[in-house]
Amino acid sequence: MRIILMGPPGAGKGTAAESLIKHYHIPHISTGNIFRELYKDRTKVGKIAKEYIERGELVPDDITNEIVRHRLSHSDVKKGFLFDGYPRNLEQAEALDKMLNDMGWTLTAAINFSAPDEVIIKRISGRRVCETCGTVYHVTNKKPKVPGVCDHDQGRLIHRNDDMEHTVRRRLKIYLNHTEPVIGYYREKGLLITVDGTQSIEEIDQTLKKVLGEKT
Ligand code: AMP
Repeated sequence: MRIILMGPPGAGKGTAAESLIKHYHIPHISTGNIFRELYKDRTKVGKIAKEYIERGELVPDDITNEIVRHRLSHSDVKKGFLFDGYPRNLEQAEALDKMLNDMGWTLTAAINFSAPDEVIIKRISGRRVCETCGTVYHVTNKKPKVPGVCDHDQGRLIHRNDDMEHTVRRRLKIYLNHTEPVIGYYREKGLLITVDGTQSIEEIDQTLKKVLGEKT
C-alpha cells in the first residue's frame, strides 16, 4: 500500500492517516512533522524550514525532496507508506515519481480531501498538537482524556503558530495555487480518489478502506 494524502490543511487528512496506518501497518510520513522534528533537534535544515512554516509558506523543493529521499532510504518503507502533506506542488510530484521509479515502485492511490474554507478555518483554529509526539487533537471534535495533555506520551498540547486564523488563510491560498495542480496530475494517472472532508470520521474511514481494498 503506497498512498499519498492530499487536501488543504484541516480537511481531515490527519485523522484518516492515523486510521490507515494502523489498518495497513505502514509508516506515516508527514513532511510537516519531519520539519518540526528537525527544528526541535536544532538542525540547520530545521531552522530554515521554521521560517517558511511560520509564514505559512512552502519550504523550498530542494530541501523538501531531500528529506523525503532520505526518509525513503529507511527499511520500514518496504512494507508501504502513507505520505501526508507531500507532494505539495508539481515539482515535488515529479521528484517523487523519479524516486519511486528508481526504487522500482509505483503508487497505489492519491487520496484528495476537499472541504469549504470556512469549515477548514473552524476546524484548524480548534486544533491542538502534542509538543513532543505531534499527535493532533481538537478542542471539540477530538478531546484528549486529560485536558491539555497528550494521551500517548503525556506531552503538553499546544496551539501551533501556523494554525492561527491569518496563517491558515494564507496556507489555503498557497494550497490553491500550488497544490491543486497536483490533483490533476494524479487524476491523469488514474490514481486519484476524492473524499468529501465534511463527512464524519467514520464515513470517511469506511469509504477509504472500501476503495483502497478494491485497489489491492
Ligand atoms: P503540515 O503539518 O503538513 O500542515 O505542514 C506544515 C508546514 O510545513 C507547511 O505549511 C509548510 O510550510 C511546511 N511543509 C510541509 N510539507 C511540505 C512540503 N511537502 N513542501 C513544502 N513545505 C512543506
